[in-house]
Amino acid sequence: MYRSHSCGELRTSDINKEVTLSGWVQKVRDKGFMIWVDLRDRYGITQLIFDEERTSSDVVEKAKTLGREFVIQVKGTVIERESKNPNMPTGDIEILVSELNILNESHTPPFTIEDETDGGEDIRMKYRYLDIRRNPVKDSLMFRHQVAMKVRNYLSEADFIEVETPYLIKSTPEGARDFVVPSRMNEGQFYALPQSPQTFKQLLMVGGMDKYFQIVKCFRDEDLRADRQPEFTQIDCEMAFVEQEDILNIFEGLTRHLIKDIKGQEISDFPRMTYDEAMRTYGNDKPDIRFGMKFGELNEVAQHKEFKVFNDAELVVGIAVPGGASYTRKEIDKLIDWVRRPQVGALGMVYVKCNEDGSFKSSVDKFYDQEDLSKWAETTGAKAGDLICILSGQGNKVRGQLSALRMELAERLGLRNPEEFAPLWVVDFPLLEWDEDTERYHAMHHPFTSPKPEDIPLLDSKPGDVRANAYDLVLNGNEIGGGSIRIHDKETQALMFDHLGFTPEEAKEQFGFLMDAFQYGAPPHGGIAFGFDRLVAILGGQETIRDFIAFPKNNNGRDVMIDAPANIDQGQLKELHIQLDL
Ligand code: ASP
Repeated sequence: MYRSHSCGELRTSDINKEVTLSGWVQKVRDKGFMIWVDLRDRYGITQLIFDEERTSSDVVEKAKTLGREFVIQVKGTVIERESKNPNMPTGDIEILVSELNILNESHTPPFTIEDETDGGEDIRMKYRYLDIRRNPVKDSLMFRHQVAMKVRNYLSEADFIEVETPYLIKSTPEGARDFVVPSRMNEGQFYALPQSPQTFKQLLMVGGMDKYFQIVKCFRDEDLRADRQPEFTQIDCEMAFVEQEDILNIFEGLTRHLIKDIKGQEISDFPRMTYDEAMRTYGNDKPDIRFGMKFGELNEVAQHKEFKVFNDAELVVGIAVPGGASYTRKEIDKLIDWVRRPQVGALGMVYVKCNEDGSFKSSVDKFYDQEDLSKWAETTGAKAGDLICILSGQGNKVRGQLSALRMELAERLGLRNPEEFAPLWVVDFPLLEWDEDTERYHAMHHPFTSPKPEDIPLLDSKPGDVRANAYDLVLNGNEIGGGSIRIHDKETQALMFDHLGFTPEEAKEQFGFLMDAFQYGAPPHGGIAFGFDRLVAILGGQETIRDFIAFPKNNNGRDVMIDAPANIDQGQLKELHIQLDL
């Protein structure tokens, strides 16, 4: 038996017990006549003591050879510590060791295995197995497990069934590139790894499975943006005989449950907002509603004077920054520089200080009087002591820029409290989105999303105005889930493919299986998928997903530990009928 107890378990009530522990050497303190060793495993740390007077000399000698990260087994007696450590759960006791067994030695690790390590990101990724021994990573993985268990239990209780769908499939068009896998047995042909189980879960509905979920890996060969992973995990769900309302209710329930169970917080308000409203009020389809600073559109109250910049703009829009009237000229200039960075791209910023005495001081006093400015304050909801920041230009661009400024200011003002949770639904997304590069419409969600029936007549005349039965679940400014009611009849699906620029032959070749299935009694259905990595990170109070993934890839999509992707040898290539032309 390697151990009778874990390293996080023993307390004063265990004093005088004979125990066996196994674990890693965290630290050795050799005082000559007395050696202390901190022994660590997943459950905690227990202090061992080797004492010349009470421990046999060969055991003491062996203890002197121990180094960091050696794996050892000890037998000994639980005794009361002389100097207790109230900061650790096992801090009242220590183990007076009688037997020491070195199970494996260790090189000195390339970084310290401590909460605050001296190892940089690269080295920690290369030796991820050592990184996982550190509390922050270990705790994150354990937390991930907890969340997964709660999700599984909740959905199982609600009659959902977890079904596995294949990883070797044909591409699902979700907007990203597929990872492809050559087939040895089918010369010149390729599988694709799923971007999501989308078509399979719909086929499960045709198969009568009714309520499906799966915690599942998805693969997207995208250019990697910060904090994206080429393989990631979804909680993928689908239901038959449901309308949008049913889905929103079930998954609102799941979200409330998780936040209550994990964070102890009762969510009182779970608002719904249309996509249009989100864009108009927050400039963003995933608004962070933990704080205000809502957009005030100022066209009406700002385009009646000689200020050409505003008069020429499609949209003049501002936000009120709480307490911002006290910013110095220098601070405001810095803010202006910030919005002019290429990443944000505004040309400039107009501001109004709302003084405590009720007067206003603006950067455009030449053009506007106090009465004008008071209307701006009213429209943006600015109070005495606030600063109004105003951007102008082309509608969607300005909205994006002001949204970036809003988030930045909220961050600086400490309004983005990671322990506060503010979920909402964004509904009524546009069905189609114009793509500048290919000069045609793409499905904003995916091609299986149902248009709102009342908007179908607009498909030909104003395709950009057609709304979808599609929804996103947003939490603290992050899209954590998205889904839709699906098309479930062959005709509408064909109409949709047509509008997306597929010829009937292309549609048949790629999605014939789905259109066929729709001819055999496909029930009305819809679903949603949550980004599980992100959900876990947010519930864990963090912004980055990497520490919640055991073996993540770096920003270039590489696994630096196993060194993948990598070349394969000629023989293997030949078997796969692949000729490289490098
Ligand atoms: N398959 C979709 C996605 O991955 C989610 C859904 O529509 O259920 O975004």
